[in-house]
Amino acid sequence: MHRGGAVARIDLSALAHNLQQVRRRAPRARVMAMVKADAYGHGALQCARALDGADAFAVARFSEARALREAGIGKRLLLLPGVFSAEELDQAAQLNLDLAVHQEQQLELLEQTPGARFDIWLKINTGMNRLGFAASEAAAICKRLQSCTALRGRLKLMTHLSDADDPANSKSSTQIQSLLDHAGDCVEVSIANSAGILAWPAAHRDWVRPGIMLYGVSPFADDCGSDHDLRPVMSFSAPLLDVRTLPKGAAVGYGSTWTAPEDMPIGAAAAGYADGYPRHLPSGTPVLINGHRVALIGRVSMDTIVLDLRNCAAAQAGDEVLLWGPQLPVEDIARKAGSIGYELLSRMGPRVPRDYGSGDY
Ligand SMILES: *Cc1c(COP(=O)(O)O)cnc(C)c1O
Repeated sequence: MHRGGAVARIDLSALAHNLQQVRRRAPRARVMAMVKADAYGHGALQCARALDGADAFAVARFSEARALREAGIGKRLLLLPGVFSAEELDQAAQLNLDLAVHQEQQLELLEQTPGARFDIWLKINTGMNRLGFAASEAAAICKRLQSCTALRGRLKLMTHLSDADDPANSKSSTQIQSLLDHAGDCVEVSIANSAGILAWPAAHRDWVRPGIMLYGVSPFADDCGSDHDLRPVMSFSAPLLDVRTLPKGAAVGYGSTWTAPEDMPIGAAAAGYADGYPRHLPSGTPVLINGHRVALIGRVSMDTIVLDLRNCAAAQAGDEVLLWGPQLPVEDIARKAGSIGYELLSRMGPRVPRDYGSGDY
């Protein structure tokens, strides 16, 4: 493998499989695939190409939308935050973006626009309390948008569930009902993220908006993608740079936080927090070398980690160390870091090459 550093291998066939799982669970809904945050760290353009079977894409930054359009992605593309100025509105028209509208100034901008037309996703706040108009205002805002010349096609109503990853929490039902109570017949409705798709069938409606499950990762706190017939798309690995014997009593790494209980083999691998391997991971966090589970020891540094090779004494410099991937769920690693798979994936460092199978990264 590449001796220089960590690499993320991206299995695009797993991405296609996971899209099929979305279709299987929400067969009547159209699918808006979330490719924001560089497709959760997997590479937005390559993932958008591999997700050609989706009905639409969504991103959270204008720059991401522009990059996809400039690379030739022509599919429906929603800019989740919407636009905030007449200039942005012009650019969005040129790029043929769908727009979200979540506050009064955005609505006025659309009402004042002379020519351009857009598919519009009206964001309703049903309890996330982050963005969106109050559900009680929905009918009045719908009326304004439906008489606005900027509206193309049917108006779409969208809300976001705050607790869908907790199947025992009835707040999701309340949020779903609140949106449906305020949605007239002439709109399309979108509620479900990945957790909504997996746990709340009542949320499927006209459009589902999967993100994390497309990448093969569970949205729930205590399980893994494979529990939902999902296949992890990313394998994050790094080469072993060096193998040596650590004498009993010697300490490893910054702060000398781990001390050898006996003479033992250790190895250093070329991954660190600058690659997106979290610094908060404790000693004992597993990695895999040639199928053997091996423990992280000492602090994660910027470019390097150190491993206890007592389980894998045959390991040699150049061997591949799997940090997470299909055999070592990123959900488990994230739990060790007090985080979630979403964060580990979306914070993968820009210096980590993404390998889509050609090997020439
Ligand atoms: C990110 C996002 C999603 C996808 O959420 P997942 O939990 O990754 O499936 C859906 N809808 C909106 C509005 C989002 O911002």
